[in-house]
Amino acid sequence: MARAIPVRNPRTGEDDHTIQAADPPELAEVAAAMRAAQPAWQALGTEGRTQVLDAWAKALLAEPDPVLDALAADTGRYLIAMVELHGIPGMVARWHDAAPRLLDEGGERDSATPGVGVRDNWVPLELVGVISPWNFPLLLSMIDSIPALAAGCAVLVKPSEVTPRFAEPLMDAIARFPELAAVFRYVPGDGITGAALIEQVDAIAFTGSVKTGRLVAEGCAKRFIPAFLELGGKDPCIVLPSADPAKAAGIVLRASVQATGQACQSLERVYVHDSIYDAFIAELSERAGALEFNYPDIHQGHIGPLIFSRQAETIEAHLADARAKGAEILCGGEIENHGGGLWIRPTVVVNVDHSMQLMRDETFGPVIPVMRYSDEDEAIRLANDTEYGLSAAVLGDAVEADRIARQLNAGAVSINDGGMTTDVHDAAHDAFGYSGLGVSRMGPSGLLRYLRRKALLIRRGEPRDMSSLDERLAVSR
Ligand code: NAD
Repeated sequence: MARAIPVRNPRTGEDDHTIQAADPPELAEVAAAMRAAQPAWQALGTEGRTQVLDAWAKALLAEPDPVLDALAADTGRYLIAMVELHGIPGMVARWHDAAPRLLDEGGERDSATPGVGVRDNWVPLELVGVISPWNFPLLLSMIDSIPALAAGCAVLVKPSEVTPRFAEPLMDAIARFPELAAVFRYVPGDGITGAALIEQVDAIAFTGSVKTGRLVAEGCAKRFIPAFLELGGKDPCIVLPSADPAKAAGIVLRASVQATGQACQSLERVYVHDSIYDAFIAELSERAGALEFNYPDIHQGHIGPLIFSRQAETIEAHLADARAKGAEILCGGEIENHGGGLWIRPTVVVNVDHSMQLMRDETFGPVIPVMRYSDEDEAIRLANDTEYGLSAAVLGDAVEADRIARQLNAGAVSINDGGMTTDVHDAAHDAFGYSGLGVSRMGPSGLLRYLRRKALLIRRGEPRDMSSLDERLAVSR
């Protein structure tokens, strides 16, 4: 029996939408149909598949409004919804260019074993499951789906129940391309549906929290299927004495409050050298205080509502804990209710230390705690004092920044900018610590991870016969 799940609107706070969560028998049926369709998709070949994806992406962008409007309703913001949608052709183009080279099996080559030739054969996983979060609902489902489709897999996506509206118009756009529709589907549902999806697929590409990621990894381990996990972070930023305080404040602000801080790569801890601390804080507070909500007009301002109401409780708890332990809030700091939606202004917090939740756990809001440091080793130690290791940033002299970046326990470090992992897709990086598991979605592995390697081993001369197993051979050696 399908379960009805109400969906809250982040701008009004009202439940104005409902999804029917797919139940396990329905999922099994969908998965079986997709597996049956996958060989035909694979048989199209790399060029054929990426051409279909290309045509679909162009058609989607030719009539963007149904998906765009639904995504804006899901997230309460318009510009980012547009960026998510307009990013799709670029993702398709990237794999259109790279896939033929990556999937080229080459010819027969010599093995190091005498008298043996080897041919490589890439075998796509039949059915890949993608489980995506609510913060960039379209982008973070596409980023894993498109390379899997280019590799020849069928892909079944379970988007977040917090932001599911975009999936229906997206499926309508996919339905116009029957070859694609047979192998690319979104199923509505929540965590129960996500757990049931694991039972049906050959790999999971998951983006979400560490807590859920652990459950997904356990489910995948029981089935001996790969789990590619992209999880949370608590990204540090080190501002060196050589940095220009005004420029650094601008970078930190944008990279911390972008998408209302609801981004895994948000800068959530800032360590500033004593010598420029006062100038940095003055610039940061002034710039942060000048930003506006995109309310009441979605087409104005910089800061959207909190998408998930429970996130407001986390942010409030982190700020309350910090205040109780002596932190000072220079601007922002309160959850505000406007029109039923929950909002928070960019919040600069000082007098913080690592005893506070604000410096240890993912806040996922536009909150910028800033701590001063006096020597480089201290800054590196503080930055590495975390269970996460998603990404980081270093601002200042490029040579010094490079040296420090190499000492940070993070999978990617932006130098003289922040959160660049959203812009750069061709550089593979691993997640350190609890920020993830499995090979990178970026770089060539973003596609290759959906393929199994098969080796065709060719005996060129005479095969060995039973004489090679005669015990007397040992004596004669
Ligand atoms: P979440 O873990 O609550 O949910 C993610 C998805 O998992 C949803 O679709 C949800 O329905 C599903 N799910 C829940 N329980 C499940 C279960 N038991 N089995 C299978 N699926 C289940 O995460 P969220 O709150 O939607 O997203 C925010 C988190 O995502 C943050 O921690 C953020 O840092 C992280 N994130 C990471 C990246 C990255 O690339 N590393 C990107 C964006 C977001």
